[in-house]
Amino acid sequence: MIIQLESLKPEGLRFAGDLDLTDLVRDDEEVRGLGPVSVDLRVRPRAGSVIVEGSVAATVRMACSRCADEFDQPVGSAFYAEFRPRPESFDKEAVVHDEDFAASYLDAGQEELDLREVAREQLLLQIPMKPLCRPDCRGLCPRCGADWNRNECACPRAGTTDPRLAVLAELSKKMED
Ligand SMILES: [Zn+2]
Ligand SMILES: [Zn+2]
Repeated sequence: MIIQLESLKPEGLRFAGDLDLTDLVRDDEEVRGLGPVSVDLRVRPRAGSVIVEGSVAATVRMACSRCADEFDQPVGSAFYAEFRPRPESFDKEAVVHDEDFAASYLDAGQEELDLREVAREQLLLQIPMKPLCRPDCRGLCPRCGADWNRNECACPRAGTTDPRLAVLAELSKKMED
C-alpha cells in the first residue's frame, strides 16, 4: 500500500480491496473498534501533486455521546484528496487558507505515499462529531447516571421547562396585563 512517487506513471494506479487498519486507529478515542475497511482508490500524478480519489467504507464501533453505550455505525463515502508539494515559504496565512480546503502536503524529498494512512484519514473524517446510538437516544441522568433509554429515575428534573412553553406563558401574561 506504499506508493513510490518516483515510479508513479501518468496513468496512475488503482487499489481495490479490504484493508485492516486497526493498528492505525488504536490511539483514536472515538474508535472503539473497526471492521475491514473496503477501499477503491485511484492514485495519479498531476503537475507535481498526487491525486488520490475513490471511496472508503467500514463499520466503526463508537460510544454514544449521550448514553456512552457502544454501537456499530457504517461510515464511508467518496473522496478526492490532493497532495501538493509543501511551499517553501510557509506563512501563517497560507496555513489558515489551506486548512479551509483540507489540502495535504508532500514534504520536500518525500518519496512515498502510504495509502493506508490516506484511507485512515478519510475514514476518520466520516466519523460523526457527536455519535448517537439512535437519533432519539435519551442519554443518562446527570444526577444518578441512570440510563434513561432503559429506565426512568426518581431524580427531580431541573430545567426541563420547554423554552417554547415559557415564551407562551410570558405572552399570555402580557395579554392579561
Ligand atoms: Zn445513546
Ligand atoms: Zn436520576
